[in-house]
Amino acid sequence: MRILVTGGAGYIGSHVVKELGRAGHDVAVLDDLSTGNSWAVKYGSLIVGDLADEQMIERVVDTFRPDAIIHFAASIQVEESMRNPLKYYRNNVGNTLNLLKVASAFGVSRFVYSSTAAVYGIPETIPVDESAPIEPINPYGASKAMGERVLGHLADSSDFRFVALRYFNVAGADPDGELGQAYQASTHLITRALKTARGEFERLAIYGTDYPTFDGTCIRDYIHVSDLASAHLAALDHLASGGGSEIMNCGYGRGYSVREVVETAKRVTGIDFQAFETDRRDGDPPALVADSSKLRSLTGWTPRHDDLEFIIGTAWAWEKRLLKRMTA
Ligand code: UDP
Repeated sequence: MRILVTGGAGYIGSHVVKELGRAGHDVAVLDDLSTGNSWAVKYGSLIVGDLADEQMIERVVDTFRPDAIIHFAASIQVEESMRNPLKYYRNNVGNTLNLLKVASAFGVSRFVYSSTAAVYGIPETIPVDESAPIEPINPYGASKAMGERVLGHLADSSDFRFVALRYFNVAGADPDGELGQAYQASTHLITRALKTARGEFERLAIYGTDYPTFDGTCIRDYIHVSDLASAHLAALDHLASGGGSEIMNCGYGRGYSVREVVETAKRVTGIDFQAFETDRRDGDPPALVADSSKLRSLTGWTPRHDDLEFIIGTAWAWEKRLLKRMTA
């Protein structure tokens, strides 16, 4: 298939592009390189452009004529979304509308959308399945929920079909060592912990120790980025074989607390880095754990790296490589 990947130079997108290339698909990446890197695009061509520019999208789709689009390009930081909501609505909703308008005009009817567990807000039951209420507690989650809603209405009104994948906490790096989280300002827990182990930060903040969880810190379902990448290929297969529009969780169904992640990072790195406890971070729900039985049963997706030590180990190998690259 010919597949247009927006945000394909970013962390998750680049892993998916690699899998698509390996599977023999023809890939074009459209990325503004605001947080991604051209070196991370291992297959296909890279077009540098901003999805705010509808005419540019038209030119790209007109030239490449994709059979499907995978749409990663988005702003993804919860705390930033609390401070700058308009950025999130503009980028995640407005620019998605631009892309969908062009997709519709050119008859591109298969679409895979990056959604998030943040659409659930504070779920009443854990693990959470896709039928849980959509009640986001931050602009990031709200903007992604709006995207899902737009996709649903577009599918109702035409032959357009989509799969929205609700990511839980994506972490780890390509086991081959070619790719990983390379956005220096990433605020994610595992990246922060490893950068602290490496000496880039003096101490790691543990945001909130008074949550209603077993050890007072937030619980998240950490999924290895390569397993998440394979979920995208499974979603494409689903659409290519005539499957209908679906929304599916992507996680392992098991949660770890912030303290457990910190302890595991210390064990994996062999470095007893400093961590300190501080106030809650705005917009963080206490616990998010996926029920991903729908993804498994509908697409046959089977995770291969469901192991927190492996996830952190691959991320650590990558961090060390990244340091060499920066100091070379
Ligand atoms: N977290 C933390 N210290 C950090 C970064 C994150 O304690 O330096 C916590 C954060 O409050 C949340 C969890 O780790 O409870 C996961 O945060 P992350 O940013 O990795 O992902 P999110 O769940 O926000 O998408």
